Amino acid sequence: MTAVRDAVDLSNYNTFGIREHADHLIEVETLSQLLDALALAERKRWPVTVLGGGSNIVLAGPVRGLTICMRSRGRRVLSRADESVLIEAAAGENWHRLTMWALDHGLSGLENLSLIPGTVGASPVQNIGAYGVELADLFDSLDAYDRDTAQVLRFDRQACEFAYRDSVFKRHPGRFIILCVRLRLLRTPQLRVDYEPLRTAWHETGLARADARVVAELVCRIRRAKLPDPTRIGNAGSFFKNPVVASDVAQTLLAANPAMPCYPQQTGSVKLAAGWLIDQAGWRGLRRGAVGVNPDQALVLVNHGGARGEEVMALAEDIRADVVRRFGVELEMEPQLLGLPITH
Ligand SMILES: Cc1cc2nc3c(=O)[nH]c(=O)nc-3n(C[C@H](O)[C@H](O)[C@H](O)COP(=O)(O)OP(=O)(O)OC[C@H]3O[C@@H](n4cnc5c(N)ncnc54)[C@H](O)[C@@H]3O)c2cc1C
Repeated sequence: MTAVRDAVDLSNYNTFGIREHADHLIEVETLSQLLDALALAERKRWPVTVLGGGSNIVLAGPVRGLTICMRSRGRRVLSRADESVLIEAAAGENWHRLTMWALDHGLSGLENLSLIPGTVGASPVQNIGAYGVELADLFDSLDAYDRDTAQVLRFDRQACEFAYRDSVFKRHPGRFIILCVRLRLLRTPQLRVDYEPLRTAWHETGLARADARVVAELVCRIRRAKLPDPTRIGNAGSFFKNPVVASDVAQTLLAANPAMPCYPQQTGSVKLAAGWLIDQAGWRGLRRGAVGVNPDQALVLVNHGGARGEEVMALAEDIRADVVRRFGVELEMEPQLLGLPITH
């Protein structure tokens, strides 16, 4: 078994750059290493936390027990059909590198999801999405270790219960450890460039022909301009989900705020832009000690250096309460909160 390290500083294991420690930490590359690590945790009665790239977590305190970092590698083509190709990638693979690998193999579908930080194994947890595409659109199946039944299970799309930034894995934290993900990618691109600001950027290229690589480059350019780079300033991407409200609620809000962005959903409800609400409430660019709201994108909270999880959560709570007060809309936090005191 690879070495278990004790009292590990997690600053470099979370993109927010919050300095907390894990009681014990192990990096696993294979299923047998994972099973050994889980057996050790059971013998020692340590709680288990699974980590990928740490780009969607906020550390509220020390992470008790054993933190298992998924580092398995491998990407391969499983089968080819006329229109599509089935690929498989191990949980520890870097997500963005998978999107580039797919393009290098002439496969499209992932281009809108370029440059999302983190690992393949975490991508189904919140059904990652960007620029009008989400993982569920390309998803075929995954294998996950079920800690309740001690079995490796295969999940198809339905079993994952994907929803907007949500899945069965997010709703049962700690139960399933995702081992690998299979995606069905396209041999002939069907580009999705209808989502602003990608649409404008695509029109500006003047290209008539579908080209997935150009779309990927545009997405990367937009993201680099809009989102703070976690290697320069700590953050976890969007801090809140975009709230989805009933259509009559959206109409009332729109009457009072005619410029408010609204995205009608197929269900009849309406998705609002959390960043716009936070911006309108006056929080954009605000700094409070070591934490702040990003000046370019109010949906992103940032660590100016030395922020603690409790400062991040205090700021988030004040923003949430203010948005409720002004607009009557409840914001839900997107990243997972880890390191909470264990109550049982
Ligand atoms: C700058 C920036 C931009 C971002 N943009 C986007 C975006 O456009 N769209 C989007 O959807 N997200 C975005 N995110 C959030 C984040 O990149 C994704 O949620 C990503 O999938 C998290 O991957 P990770 O490996 O870092 O997961 P981690 O942060 O390590 O873990 C996240 C959660 O998944 C669990 N988990 C991790 N690996 C596994 C596994 N193998 N099995 C079971 N559970 C696991 C963890 O326990 C935790 O609960 C952004 C983040 C940043 C910092």
